[in-house]
Amino acid sequence: MKDRIPLIAGNWKMFKTSNEALDAAAQLAKLVSDIDTVDIMIAPPFTSLTVVSEVIRDTRIALGAQDMYWEKEGAFTGEISAPMLISAGCQYVIIGHSERRQYFGETDETVNKKIMAATASGLIPILCVGETETQRDEKKTFSVLDKQIEKGLEKLTLDEHQSLIIAYEPVWAIGSGKTATPDQVQEVHAFLRDLIEKRFGNMLAKATRILYGGSVKPDNVTELMALPDVDGALVGGASLKADSFSKIIHF
Ligand code: PEP
Repeated sequence: MKDRIPLIAGNWKMFKTSNEALDAAAQLAKLVSDIDTVDIMIAPPFTSLTVVSEVIRDTRIALGAQDMYWEKEGAFTGEISAPMLISAGCQYVIIGHSERRQYFGETDETVNKKIMAATASGLIPILCVGETETQRDEKKTFSVLDKQIEKGLEKLTLDEHQSLIIAYEPVWAIGSGKTATPDQVQEVHAFLRDLIEKRFGNMLAKATRILYGGSVKPDNVTELMALPDVDGALVGGASLKADSFSKIIHF
């Protein structure tokens, strides 16, 4: 029996104008109004955060951002800070998504700065980790994850870790339609919980939510959520339509 509250999080990536985001969030709010045992988060593009925050006010849906910069303000053209996200209504922020690592030069060091800045400001960071297909084939999955966690959480104190959420997202399963098998997912989630236990002790390891991400859909979510160390899902493609995301939330 898991006593961690599940979190189903939707990453809308670079999809939806403000009007489209508003419509999708309003539809979702209606569809999930019966839910009271699952935490729900949506992360629209920055431009839609404020409008979406209005429409999900007084619902169970929380707002998240897809990235942030670690400084509070300054001459950093194009960047968005934690205080800005908070004032737009965000409670969560996704950090180190593999698309940011792959296309925008995100490293474990920048991930670490962002995690520290997010926790310091009161945002709940969702740290994404995961191996590529080649790394899995070369049997490097665990060493890759070990390094991502070790470096990504460097200098994080036990107190700062309290709110942290981890998302295991095998890069080869993201947007590919290939989901990791339940055995693969459980093996990695147990490994990650073990890493947290070694760093921060048993209590925190038991309390930390570890989400799975990678082609989660209404028809595979039930099986994934039944795994002992899976505490939720980070959903890309299937979170874009309110009805499919609602089905996932009703796993
Ligand atoms: C993601 O982008 O975090 C993700 C898991 O995408 P998808 O669900 O589309 O694989």
